Amino acid sequence: MKISLDEAAKLLKDAQTIILTSHIRPDGDSVGSTLGLMHFLRAQGKDAHVFIDDEIPRIFNVLPGVETIARPEEGLRYTADLLVVCDVELKRTGAVVPSVDAVHVLNIDHHVTNDEEAEFLYLNSDDAATCEIMHDLILQMGGTFTLDIATCLYTGIATDTGFFRFSNTTPHTMRAAADFLEIGVKQSKIAVAMEMKSYDEVMAQVKAIRNLEMFYDGRVAAVFIDEEKAREVTTTEGLLDKLRVIEGTQVVFFMKWLEKDTYRVSMRSKGPNVSRIAQGLGGGGHIRAAGCTLYGSFDEAKQTILAAIGEELNR
Ligand code: 5GP
Ligand code: MN
Ligand code: MN
Repeated sequence: MKISLDEAAKLLKDAQTIILTSHIRPDGDSVGSTLGLMHFLRAQGKDAHVFIDDEIPRIFNVLPGVETIARPEEGLRYTADLLVVCDVELKRTGAVVPSVDAVHVLNIDHHVTNDEEAEFLYLNSDDAATCEIMHDLILQMGGTFTLDIATCLYTGIATDTGFFRFSNTTPHTMRAAADFLEIGVKQSKIAVAMEMKSYDEVMAQVKAIRNLEMFYDGRVAAVFIDEEKAREVTTTEGLLDKLRVIEGTQVVFFMKWLEKDTYRVSMRSKGPNVSRIAQGLGGGGHIRAAGCTLYGSFDEAKQTILAAIGEELNR
């Protein structure tokens, strides 16, 4: 059921023990929004914990409280007054949602493709990041921002907007970020941390880019990474930022082998609706940034995604 920001605030106020979670393959917005809200709730005297069922990339070590994030233990059950699922719908939290018994479940998200399955959903797809929603939510609850809260929430806004360059950046986004800078957030330190890569990661990116292919008269740039190539392309982090700059491209994406007959697709767009493509293939996301998982043979999957993108380009 969709609810207002005020109703979301009330659910948080009425709960004492609160579990916060977000999606697997953590990003700045998932880690930032859960930790930011955790810091706020703890300051209100509540018992709040973040569970994320994945490894947290080490670039997020600059976020205060990141060391408190736990993975659910197999076979254990957790209880809470409220489970808050941030930046994702309920089905993409790995083992967290299935292992928590909560009186109520609140979903806070900014993805247009949210499946609206949660008991209570506050969805604002005008916001660039879930951290931008958290900014308004905390103010709605009469709260103030500590440096810990501000650092976490600033990070999610910065990463989900490509540091204020993507089209989802609005005056409201900038005002929220400005509020956090006023608290003293070290924005330059965060920017440096978010783009940090090891030597091996840089070399993996070089190896990935060697597989660059162009389609549809140069409107699409893609990198396909099969099982063999996946051994040397250990990360795709930041890869699409390198493809996006290619003149004339409308959609850039990669398809990477994950495990037997399973491939990860991640897309970025300068106009065409890639969330529609992703949703049609069982995934989701935003109009200009979306992803999905494909199954079957490598060649079949390659044809499937290329055909789906071609169809969208012709709409
Ligand atoms: P990325 O390409 O960075 O993995 O994801 C881009 C956007 O699409 C993110 O907002 C992410 O949450 C969303 N997304 C990526 N893959 C999936 C998926 O398989 N399912 C859904 N629902 N959303 C996805
Ligand atoms: Mn996210
Ligand atoms: Mn987000």
